[in-house]
Amino acid sequence: MNKKTIKDLNLQDKKVLVRADYNVSLDDGFKVGDDFRICQTLPTLNYLLKKNCTLFLISHFGRPRGKKVKSLSLRPVAEYLEKAIHRRVHFYAKDYTQKKNQQELKKYRAGEIVLLENVRFYPGEEENKEVFARSLARLADVFVNDAFGVSHRVHASVVGITQFLPSVAGLLLEKEVKIISRAINKPRRPLVAIIGGAKAKDKINLVGKLLEKADHCLVGGGVAYTFCKAWGYEIGRSLVNYEMVELAKQLFWKASRSNTAMLLPTDVVLGNLKTGRVNGVVMSSQIPPAWQALDIGPKTQAEFGNIIAKAGTIIWNGPMGVFEKKEFRNGTDFIYYAISQNRDSLSIIGGGHTLAALQKKEYLQVIDHVSTGGGAMLQFIEKGTLPGIEVLEEA
Ligand code: AMP
Repeated sequence: MNKKTIKDLNLQDKKVLVRADYNVSLDDGFKVGDDFRICQTLPTLNYLLKKNCTLFLISHFGRPRGKKVKSLSLRPVAEYLEKAIHRRVHFYAKDYTQKKNQQELKKYRAGEIVLLENVRFYPGEEENKEVFARSLARLADVFVNDAFGVSHRVHASVVGITQFLPSVAGLLLEKEVKIISRAINKPRRPLVAIIGGAKAKDKINLVGKLLEKADHCLVGGGVAYTFCKAWGYEIGRSLVNYEMVELAKQLFWKASRSNTAMLLPTDVVLGNLKTGRVNGVVMSSQIPPAWQALDIGPKTQAEFGNIIAKAGTIIWNGPMGVFEKKEFRNGTDFIYYAISQNRDSLSIIGGGHTLAALQKKEYLQVIDHVSTGGGAMLQFIEKGTLPGIEVLEEA
């Protein structure tokens, strides 16, 4: 990475503001459900504690849109982090942009950890307001970005603040950038990209980029049906983004020129999401008008599985079907299984839904890198960098 990290600065005894991504899921609205993102920041926090730093942690949580929303407080994260890091974590719920509260925050000493309340309670955050960024900067001597998952956002606690403090990458950000860059730019071949999910707009641009890099591009999930439509198939009531159909057509041409095999589902599982009914498997060219294709079928699984088995590098973002319903999660489960069977490849998965779809934890252990970024990972693959990375100090 051509940016400085926490290992490149003398941080001994400094006050450090760490931008983390603690946008985790909560069980019953108040208990941390999935601690993956929290645990991933521990190496950075422990490194800084060894340097005797005072840590101010800042993160967003959900979408309060500039207002205080009680259910979107980061307090449960503070409680969880305390157990994970085996140290006291102070939670600061008051307005940390006010001078008198900032005075109060000065009392925290070396080795102490303070988690600040949800940064998106302040309208200046998402608007990237200079005054807000400046007030955040007053809390510390150095800024550390360890939030890969929000580095595609031009927000005050990601981008704006770097104008006012020396700013470097944390160890998690560094790891994400190194692994994903290597997989895209120097992959062990064949490089197999698997794209699914619903957001056709983001994903189709990504497919365009991957056609320049990958040897195989396997397209499933809701996005596949925009491609099927572009190919001329009738897709019934399956998910489609009409605005993207033209671009999808161009991508068929691009694939044929770029030596990349782009595979769409050969067969699909039909259903009706409203009634929850399943209506068997058909070829993707034969989807009846009243039905939706909600998962990839067994033939497609076999085809995708054969390619995954021979892959040198695998990048996966987006489920193959509506995995939230058990009737339509076989395709996604199968992809996990296939990746877990190929022990020789470097495998990277990303995206909140892709992770949420993971039923068996043991599959996760055989994935080499689970990215904390969804949208950020897609944009990083597409553009090779992100706004929150660009603004860090050059190495
Ligand atoms: P994304 O955030 O773009 O990765 O999309 C994830 C969502 O895509 C999940 O909520 C899935 O239920 C949804 N999805 C996957 N396959 C399909 C499909 N065939 N039709 C409709 N939605 C789908």
